[in-house]
Amino acid sequence: MSKLSRLEGKVAIVTGAASGIGAETVKTFVENGAFVVIADINDELGHQVATSIGLDKVSYHHCDVRDEKQVEATVAFALEKYGTLDIMFSNAGIGGAIHSILELNLNEFDNMLAINIRGSAASIKHAARVMVERKIRGSIICTASVVATIAGSTGHDYTTSKSGLLGLVRSACGELGAYGIRVNSISPYVVGTPLTCSELNMEVSEVEAIGIGSSNLKGITLKTTHIAEAALFLASDESAYISGHNLVVDGGFSVINSCVP
Ligand code: NAD
Repeated sequence: MSKLSRLEGKVAIVTGAASGIGAETVKTFVENGAFVVIADINDELGHQVATSIGLDKVSYHHCDVRDEKQVEATVAFALEKYGTLDIMFSNAGIGGAIHSILELNLNEFDNMLAINIRGSAASIKHAARVMVERKIRGSIICTASVVATIAGSTGHDYTTSKSGLLGLVRSACGELGAYGIRVNSISPYVVGTPLTCSELNMEVSEVEAIGIGSSNLKGITLKTTHIAEAALFLASDESAYISGHNLVVDGGFSVINSCVP
């Protein structure tokens, strides 16, 4: 297998793929031979990303992951367009403001969970239905976060959503292994994307400086490409015996921060 054909002929859906980590992953998947459906609510950006990568390999489909019917329709679109579904990268997510728990806005809390957990539940459900029915030994990947396992300086709603997502990945892994379907998550540290830039009110370079200052790996800046490479590994047959795993991509940050000083 050539270095750039790790997903030759595979079909993937990437949610939240109009921007940031998702858009970078679509590029990486396509470079490795996959056909990809970009599923997002940002139609303008989604079409732009699809066109820039190449419409012979990529399609855009509007999908708000809060709406199960739209997720189901996106899966049906992938089947109609490309004939199968091997990979679901459930990556759509939002960040949010950091507030004291004393000021917690429960409507914002509900919306966060509706996108960051319920959206993944719908994505796993409809991808797995197709994979089980068609006996596809597929790969399902969810984007969690380092704050899923360690205390972090994010909002209570965000931390809760990503921690809950790990539980969902574990339980789905437990059931779907019987069908040869793998379910894993990726937990990135802070990456300079529109999500973090707007959340922290910073430029990309300022967001990246946070990682440079706190990671254990000196001399390297965390980029969306690092997360895309992790997704590629979990999507490809190179990780054929890996399921239920949370792949932390943080340059050692969570290890050094859970050590006794
Ligand atoms: P981003 O804002 O660049 O991209 C997120 C995408 O999700 C956008 O295109 C947006 O339109 C889409 N989206 C939002 N709500 C949606 C919905 N209801 N349905 C479908 N699509 C929707 O952000 P990003 O940093 O690339 O984030 C991608 C994922 O990575 C998220 O799950 C985020 O929580 C996670 N994450 C990001 C970081 C980071 O530092 N950037 C760190 C850890 C985890």
